[in-house]
Amino acid sequence: MTAPAARLLIVGPQGSGKGTQGARVAEALGVPAISTGDMFRAAIAGKTPLGLEVQAIIEAGDLVPDELTSAVVRERLSETDAAAGFLLDGYPRNLGQVSDFDAFLTDRGEKLTSVIELSVPRDESIERLTLRAQQQGRTDDTEDVIANRLRIYERETAPILDVYRERGIVDTIDGVGTLDGITARVVSALQARGLSAEAVR
Ligand code: AMP
Repeated sequence: MTAPAARLLIVGPQGSGKGTQGARVAEALGVPAISTGDMFRAAIAGKTPLGLEVQAIIEAGDLVPDELTSAVVRERLSETDAAAGFLLDGYPRNLGQVSDFDAFLTDRGEKLTSVIELSVPRDESIERLTLRAQQQGRTDDTEDVIANRLRIYERETAPILDVYRERGIVDTIDGVGTLDGITARVVSALQARGLSAEAVR
C-alpha cells in the first residue's frame, strides 16, 4: 500500500519552535515547508507590492487580512512542488482562514492528513522569543509586539484546533525538549497515521 500524501499543518504559539520543527518534519517527509510568515517577510525585504501592503501590520504583530493571506497560500499551493503534499506553518490562523482553506481543499479533492499541535508553556514561549529577539533582531519580536502576538494566538488561533480536533486529525506533541527529540515525536505521530518519514538526523 502506498503511503497517503502528507498534507500537514503545524500550529503553535510564537516561540513554540513550529518554524524549526516544521522545516525538519517537511524534510523528513519530502514535502515543501511553506511558512506564511516567511513569505511575508521575504515580500517585505524585497519591497514587493505585497510587502509594502503588509509591513505595518506585521510590525504591529497583527494579522494580515484573511482574503489577502488566503490568496497568497492558494497561489503558493498551486505550484507543482506542493501537488504531492505540503506542510503549512502559520496558516490557517483563525476560523475565517479555516473556512477559506476548507473550500480550497474541497475544490482540489484533498484532505488534511494531520494537524500537528506543538504544545509549549507560555513562559517558555516568551523566554524563547526574547532570546530570538536578541539573536535575530526581528522587528516583531519586541516585548509589546510579542505580547500582542501571543494574545492573538490564544484568542484567534487556538480555537482552530477545536475544529480540527472534532475531525480527529490533531496530533498534540510536547514541544519541550531537544530538537531531535521533538522531531522524533512528531515523526512517530505521523507514522501512526500511515505516513512514511525518513528518520531525521
Ligand atoms: P510567523 O512567522 O508565523 O510568526 O508570522 C509572522 C507574522 O506574519 C504574524 O505575526 C502576522 O502578522 C503575519 N502572518 C503570518 N501568517 C499569517 C496568517 N495566516 N494570517 C495573518 N497573518 C499572518
